[in-house]
Amino acid sequence: MDCIFCKIIEGAIPSSKIYETDNVLVFRDIQPAAPVHALIIPKKHIASMNDAKDGDFALLGEVLAAAQHTAQELGVADSGYRLINNCGADGGQVVFHIHFHLLGGEKLGPLNA
Ligand code: 5GP
Ligand code: ZN
Repeated sequence: MDCIFCKIIEGAIPSSKIYETDNVLVFRDIQPAAPVHALIIPKKHIASMNDAKDGDFALLGEVLAAAQHTAQELGVADSGYRLINNCGADGGQVVFHIHFHLLGGEKLGPLNA
């Protein structure tokens, strides 16, 4: 499958890994938008929020648990952070393997700026 994040999971494309479980991988975004910018992904290929099935939401709960763990590990839990999922064209999704961005390490601007 021609999916860049699946290739990262397989190790075919290198990444800066932060945290890994049986079902979830966390790695640094190659083009960080904040001092802390991690990507949290399920190892199962789900293209987007629109493609998640009923049976995928336990796995997506594991993705959120990994995001919470990562915020602690990267030292932004207390200062705060933002979790973002871009879905589809208007959402600005570029990579169609579902992922959450964890952004922090600075005061982030308001969403309506
Ligand atoms: P999206 O716009 O789909 O929500 O975000 C995709 C993110 O993946 C972008 O922030 C982009 O910088 C990141 N990205 C794209 N290709 C790679 C890559 O090969 N390695 C890593 N670590 N991040 C990537
Ligand atoms: Zn994939």
